Amino acid sequence: MVFRLFNSLTKKEEEFQPLKQDKVGMYTCGPTVYWFPHIGNMRAYLCSDLLRRTFEYNNFEVELVINITDVGHLTSDSDEGEDKMIVAMRREGKTALEIADFYTQAFLRDLNRLNIKPAHHYPKATEHIAEQIKMIKDIERNGFTYQTSDGIYFDTSKLPQYGILSGQKSEDKQAGARVEMKDKKNSTDFALWKFSPTGSQREMEWESPWGKGFPGWHIECSAMSIKYLEMPFDVHMGGIDHIPVHHENELAQAIGCCGAYHARFWIHNDFLIVNGGKMSKSLGNLFTIDDLVVKGFDPMSYRYFVLGAHYRAKLNFTWDALTSAQNALRRLQKNVRDWDAPAIGCAKYELRFLDAINNDLNTPQALAILWEMVEDTSQPTSARAQSLLKFDLVLGLCLDDFVGKRLEIPEEVSELMRKRDEARQKKDWGESDRLREEIKNKGYSVEDTDKGQKITE
Ligand code: AMP
Ligand code: ZN
Repeated sequence: MVFRLFNSLTKKEEEFQPLKQDKVGMYTCGPTVYWFPHIGNMRAYLCSDLLRRTFEYNNFEVELVINITDVGHLTSDSDEGEDKMIVAMRREGKTALEIADFYTQAFLRDLNRLNIKPAHHYPKATEHIAEQIKMIKDIERNGFTYQTSDGIYFDTSKLPQYGILSGQKSEDKQAGARVEMKDKKNSTDFALWKFSPTGSQREMEWESPWGKGFPGWHIECSAMSIKYLEMPFDVHMGGIDHIPVHHENELAQAIGCCGAYHARFWIHNDFLIVNGGKMSKSLGNLFTIDDLVVKGFDPMSYRYFVLGAHYRAKLNFTWDALTSAQNALRRLQKNVRDWDAPAIGCAKYELRFLDAINNDLNTPQALAILWEMVEDTSQPTSARAQSLLKFDLVLGLCLDDFVGKRLEIPEEVSELMRKRDEARQKKDWGESDRLREEIKNKGYSVEDTDKGQKITE
């Protein structure tokens, strides 16, 4: 079946075929490890995981790279401000390495809690300075750079196709927010290498042909993606905020260095927003996976919540919406516990499911098909189980922990149920209700059916 994906570079849905036989090279822009990732960031990695799993579902082998930005990402996207890592070092009184290690571990832990499959490589910017310098030298040799008092800049006016991704020309940028020009020639020009401030020793700096300094933020992703995946590779991915600056500049660097774009498909997820607005620390509406767990949510409910929206649609986060997602997931888990062992599968649902996810990752539709199948009692539970576990290869909701896994009731809860049965036979409804409450406090709920008491988590 054809796999169609929306390519931000061509602004159309295109049929996906790997450039190298059946092996997909995929690069997802990783975190800047100066703080805990928030749930918006984690939406980006969930979308990347969804795409990776969908490739695998289509029988393509995937090689995934997620970089770790541990230098060069400044507090402003226009090459101004301080390095976010240095801000964190000062805040916490730690070395750059300690900061990077700590927040990289936090990131990997969140990936794990959300059942996001690990990447094959997690290259760090600081461990690839030589590759970045080499790339800048190539761009310089090809005549795309100039030097200012504070660094080596890419001259975007030399590249007629600059703006291809964002559709934004340098005049548009000037018309918008104030752009720091300093001695840059064009507002869209960006730093490839920044010089260390004179007279002071910077905490993170390296020797280069242009003097001591550090790389600009964009060069790491071009240099490391080409190193690990060889150009051209299939997919480059990130959140939509990367379209106008980071990815536009990456494309410029690839042309400047190698005369061609380094990736074929450019895929961008839209934002997670809160009450219609941006998530930000200052508004107090920025949450982490830990915040969800503290409030009693299973991280998998957040995964389910994210899958409920198309990756190219904005998704509004509210606690009520997360609660609904958790309830739906719990209902699904309960539903499948007493199913028979997987066998055969339901071909018609599998076809429809594949059609939905191969249609630019239409997960809302895929989930609707999943529910239709789960509730279709005309199909044996064994067949539904088989197909559901297949769907979960894409959805990653850990449903194999539930399908056919009957609930193991602790002895004390069974005892309470026996007592409740006796009370009900004696028509002692008060005692029966009290016991139901006691059972509930132990994390189970009982329902009275014509076959007797039914217990669920
Ligand atoms: P950063 O660590 O800031 O480089 O961001 C890591 C990833 O998260 C990038 O792909 C961003 O585009 C993405 N991202 C940041 N904020 C959000 C958000 N609110 N919703 C979805 N993705 C986001
Ligand atoms: Zn990047």
